[in-house]
Amino acid sequence: MTKACNEASGQPPSKKRKALDESAETAETTKTKKAGSCSKQAGSSGVRRTQSRAKLSMLPSLSLDILLEIFSHLFPIDLLHLARTTKALRNLLMRRNTTTVWKYAFTQIQGLPECPSDMSFPAWAHLAFEPVCHNCYTSNVRNISWILRTRLCSRCAKICLEDAGIFDAKNNIDKDVLECVPFNNYCGKYCLASDRKRFVQELKAHKEDRQKFVEQKMAEVTTRLDHALLCEDWSKALADERAITLQQIKDNRHNAISEKLLQLGYGKELDFLSDERADDHEHSEYVPFHKHHLVRHPRNLTDKVWDSIKDDLGEYMQKVRAYIKSKERKELVWKRRECAALAWNEYRNAKCDPGSFLPNQIDLWVWDPVRDIIERPSEAEVTKDSFEQVFRGLPSFIESWQRDKITQIVHNATDTMKWIPFPGISDLELATCVFTCSNNFFHSLMRRYEDDQSCLMWFPEFVHHRCNTLTRRRYGENDEELQDLDSCGLLSVNSEALGLRRRQWSARWLFFDDKASRTVRSILSACGMSQSAKVQQLDQEDPRLICLKCSFGAKCDGERFFSVMTWRTAVQHNLKKHFGDGQTNFQRISSLDVDEAKRLETAEQVRRLSANPNRPQQPVDKPWRCTLCRDCPVEPGALTLAEMWRHQYRRHNKLKKNLEEGVDYYRAYDRPPPQPYQVKIKPRDPTVDL
Ligand SMILES: [Zn+2]
Ligand SMILES: [Zn+2]
Ligand SMILES: [Zn+2]
Ligand SMILES: [Zn+2]
Repeated sequence: MTKACNEASGQPPSKKRKALDESAETAETTKTKKAGSCSKQAGSSGVRRTQSRAKLSMLPSLSLDILLEIFSHLFPIDLLHLARTTKALRNLLMRRNTTTVWKYAFTQIQGLPECPSDMSFPAWAHLAFEPVCHNCYTSNVRNISWILRTRLCSRCAKICLEDAGIFDAKNNIDKDVLECVPFNNYCGKYCLASDRKRFVQELKAHKEDRQKFVEQKMAEVTTRLDHALLCEDWSKALADERAITLQQIKDNRHNAISEKLLQLGYGKELDFLSDERADDHEHSEYVPFHKHHLVRHPRNLTDKVWDSIKDDLGEYMQKVRAYIKSKERKELVWKRRECAALAWNEYRNAKCDPGSFLPNQIDLWVWDPVRDIIERPSEAEVTKDSFEQVFRGLPSFIESWQRDKITQIVHNATDTMKWIPFPGISDLELATCVFTCSNNFFHSLMRRYEDDQSCLMWFPEFVHHRCNTLTRRRYGENDEELQDLDSCGLLSVNSEALGLRRRQWSARWLFFDDKASRTVRSILSACGMSQSAKVQQLDQEDPRLICLKCSFGAKCDGERFFSVMTWRTAVQHNLKKHFGDGQTNFQRISSLDVDEAKRLETAEQVRRLSANPNRPQQPVDKPWRCTLCRDCPVEPGALTLAEMWRHQYRRHNKLKKNLEEGVDYYRAYDRPPPQPYQVKIKPRDPTVDL
């Protein structure tokens, strides 16, 4: 009895005092409703504590009957704390004849199994109700091992426990230890080193009646285990109940704070926060209301508490208010941009040549007159019609926009090829002006070029190239003037290329292709054309060529077979077969042979198609785009004529016979003209022909 009392109340100085104070407080907050406490009141401030202690010191002078009557209203934890206040009280409460007080105190704890016969009441109260480590008195140790009858912090658990694995069941003493010492079976099998040592000592003392002693100990362990199981059930039920109570306190506090904030005029913000909670929405601007540390704190909201937190919460609500305001502003701006895009689409379809080189909606949004309207104060009403007036300036804006973008391309060319004397914009139309696009990733998304094809572009293809106006979603380009474009559904191009969106026009991916340009020079020489010939002229000439590098310099003589190519195919050929060799020469075949070559080209196409109708070896030519869908999210991309008819009927309810090229649909200038297959003939010597 005495020993147990000492364990329970004999305390190391201040550290334990502090731990117990804390635990008393936690016990109050976590609401041991039945094990509730009066000691809290005695310990809330230094002054009050001294006063209370002064009064308590009078207690032992009262008659025992009165004392017992007073004590009978206390809980076990209170008695324990009381016993620690003064020596006199300790002596009184640890006396055997006060057992009934303890007993009565324990009856007030619903469901707690009885104090085991081999334990004192104070030790039992200490184990059940004081959340401190039994070894170092660290506070807030909630795990109780009912079978070991101890609470240990994780640090002390390492010191005080012994793993069952260290005992050898073949060794007589170890075997008895495993059977007679209580072991914890949670997360491994452990016993208290002190229990084991005591048992071994006792075992040595029972040399005569060892067997009887072991049997008695085994029976004790069994009883202890049964009791421990009951205790576990009780503490689990208590923990569940505590969790519910805690949640109730939190909910009450949450509601009480909401009510206070509502009175302060934060209704809109509270609604917003509760919607966010429902959506499980989180962002970096502020913590969600229900996760705010002042809101979720598990303590009831008193006026005093409210006074101490209202400034902080007011600041928080102001932050939320500012966030809502900026969010609403952003949404409004996006609505206005939508209106501007709609107005622009209507203007473009009515006034501009379809298929011409034009800005898209984003280019419009950053045009100052349109931007000014979009950014008008939130109170101002902005509709599609609001843009009518400034759109009168569109023709000159479009003109300067086009000039600006074309100049960008010229700069790209002159930056890479300093030696090319590009005096101006018109030189972009030269046949020797060839661009390539470095964004193969986009091309694969758009299924643009065949594996064996380089992306080579002549005027006007590179001006209209899709990569100039598309970008990857979520990889927001930092060269754009507007933010948040990634989340704008209006900029989707999913029908054409999944995962891409429209962007502000940019020539960032375009590069002048020097090797291709040199090859064109060589072709122009072979054709006897001027080096300053334009793409259009070369297309009109539509020469057929043979590669003299492949024939090791041998020319057409009417005897030899040669692969015959168009000029564009010849450039691709030199880039692929001869790595763009600048020395490659070509010979133009006689016009008499060209007719034969073209006939064979057509036949070859028919032959390949009939041999393998489902897998044409050349990409299908899709030369048309829909005027009404231009730059819209539903834009289907480039189409064949048959596909265009279907599209117009389904989407725009227009019949084939009413469709007009250049009005309802326009040429997709971003697409290269399709090239025929190479054919083999024996071309005659063209010099004889001429
Ligand atoms: Zn400890
Ligand atoms: Zn590209
Ligand atoms: Zn060749
Ligand atoms: Zn359409």
